[in-house]
Amino acid sequence: MSPIVELRNMEKSFGAVQVLKGVSFTVEKGEVVAIIGQSGSGKSTALRCMDRLETVTGGELFVCGHALHDPKVDLHALRKDVGIVFQSYNLFPHLTVEQNVTMAPRLVQKMSTDAAREVARAVIAKVGLSDKLDAYPEQLSGGQQQRVAIARSLALRPKLMLFDEVTSALDPKLTGEVLRVIEGLAKEGMTMILVTHEMQFARDVADRVIYMRDGIVHEMGGPEILTNPGTPELAEFLAHGY
Ligand code: ADP
Ligand code: MG
Repeated sequence: MSPIVELRNMEKSFGAVQVLKGVSFTVEKGEVVAIIGQSGSGKSTALRCMDRLETVTGGELFVCGHALHDPKVDLHALRKDVGIVFQSYNLFPHLTVEQNVTMAPRLVQKMSTDAAREVARAVIAKVGLSDKLDAYPEQLSGGQQQRVAIARSLALRPKLMLFDEVTSALDPKLTGEVLRVIEGLAKEGMTMILVTHEMQFARDVADRVIYMRDGIVHEMGGPEILTNPGTPELAEFLAHGY
């Protein structure tokens, strides 16, 4: 079976600035991969390429069978297969939790209102917010809003979930409830790539860890590299965060 994600020497430049300098790795079905690294090392750019929010400028990138380096890629089909969640939740403030979550299945998958509502209720239950169906985002904590954002992505039944520092804006008390949702998805076998600063979480949940540095994969291995790094640079990063 082919991998869910495959990067072959992927490059990304913004104008004259090369941010990704030949990144290669694969992610198999059901794997949880954590990407760590200094600010500016290209983690978000790599993730954004995988949902085609950025276009690669070199190499090859396959995601859920879609060749994203090909200008003719079917973006509509890609967006059904891949969910992405960011640090900022970007919920629609004038819509309830349930309405926020039914939006995508209705618009993208052309589901009937009833069918979309059924899917929405199931994924809202999964993130533990069944008692907040009729709440508006401003009535929720940051952690609850982020869980709605995750539910909104899950409503499209993605084959791959991408998380970009989804807990960075939350205080530690609220971080835990969001991480537990992600952990639950991991247990269900969801394929996930998460950019994270939560080293303990990466150690507990990730099958594999990728340390990016200056636009390349500097080190990759099992979660044990977070305890026993193989390069002095990763050791330095783990000790000091830079
Ligand atoms: P990370 O997520 O690891 O902090 P990013 O992928 O956000 O790193 O950024 C990597 C580098 O790419 C940074 O130097 C950033 O300034 C640059 N960059 C990111 N997006 C753009 C853009 N749209 N235009 C120009 N430069 C960008
Ligand atoms: Mg980033």
